[in-house]
Amino acid sequence: MQWEVVIGLETHVQLSTQSKIFSGAPCHFGDAPNVHACYVDLALPGALPVLNHGAVERAIRFGLAIGAKVANHSVFDRKNYFYPDLPKGYQISQFELPIVLGGQLTFPVEPKTGEPYMKTINLTRAHLEEDAGKSVHGIVSGHSGIDLNRAGTPLLEIVTEPELRSAEEAVGYARALHALVVWLGISKGNMQEGNFRCDANVSVRPKGETKFGTRCEIKNLNSFRFLEEAINYEVQRQIEVIEDGGKIVQATRLYDPDKGETRQMRTKEDSMDYRYFPDPDLPPIHISDAWIEKIKAEQPELREVKQARYQEEYGLPAYDAGILTESRHLAGLFEETAAIYGNAKKTANWFMGEVLRLTKDKAMDPEQVSFSPKHLADLLVLSLIHI
Ligand code: ADP
Ligand code: MG
Repeated sequence: MQWEVVIGLETHVQLSTQSKIFSGAPCHFGDAPNVHACYVDLALPGALPVLNHGAVERAIRFGLAIGAKVANHSVFDRKNYFYPDLPKGYQISQFELPIVLGGQLTFPVEPKTGEPYMKTINLTRAHLEEDAGKSVHGIVSGHSGIDLNRAGTPLLEIVTEPELRSAEEAVGYARALHALVVWLGISKGNMQEGNFRCDANVSVRPKGETKFGTRCEIKNLNSFRFLEEAINYEVQRQIEVIEDGGKIVQATRLYDPDKGETRQMRTKEDSMDYRYFPDPDLPPIHISDAWIEKIKAEQPELREVKQARYQEEYGLPAYDAGILTESRHLAGLFEETAAIYGNAKKTANWFMGEVLRLTKDKAMDPEQVSFSPKHLADLLVLSLIHI
């Protein structure tokens, strides 16, 4: 029997605001437990949430970049469940009326066998929500601790339609989405710090079948490699269960990277179980067309557009245009230098040679590279004289 794989991803992107989504406590990673948890994050009685304007702006920026509908009216809901790292007993999220609807993303896929190709998929929605805290094990022996520094960190959850057909396509999508949110400046995208986490919904069906199979959801995959490994393992597992005459039970599973396998965490709850209802502490979000237009006008030139322009305007090969636009910040320095110096091709050679080599050698984050384009342009003039 030939099987077809069906995958939909839900990605939690941490937004790059200074403070939390509903409180003034800083979003800061790596400090002593609970130093960034204020009365709102601790859910003290009477504490009220106040929405962070910057989180809404970043969600709008994302919606515009993927050609989605930005809702003029959206609502926060309470998602009720019990867990030690969730002191309120509910997470503030969006359910029926999310801030971003629809949209598309196009990305390159590099399959294990066969030629690379481009794929476009539809996004279902993106909604704002708060992150939970963290249980900490092993600090006090025999006990678990709770660290609420992360509680209330702003997240944008981005949901795709079930249109991905392989682990490679899922990875291609996730990489492109990651690059986009970093490019837009709405997330730092630091994967080690959990800024970008994917839940993979996976099912299989006989080739040619139009109905979807029962899916399992693998939670919290925080690297592209784990995403790929977890999906491939899960696909194999499901096929074996069905071919052995068994049935897939809808469930939430976790991936264990040490063992290279997924295991069941809980049978899947339905949205009914969360008893969603609008949060009475937060007014609906009203977004005026004027605000959307203002953000649209400030939107950075997207990478694909920049690449095309470098080829057209500067006469650079597609390869060079690709390399030069790996970081929006470095692309900006390149453009300024080329404008002062006047020869884009020579500037491009210096960037691809010296600037990128030094960035790599010093293991610098491209976003941190800093020099004056005027100085580099002067240097290029001198190098011309001496050659
Ligand atoms: P929930 O919010 O309960 O997890 P949704 O229906 O909103 O459920 O779907 C969540 C994700 O699962 C979406 O990305 C969707 O594309 C994907 N999905 C839905 N059905 C399937 C399926 N049969 N196989 C694979 N993915 C699926
Ligand atoms: Mg889900």
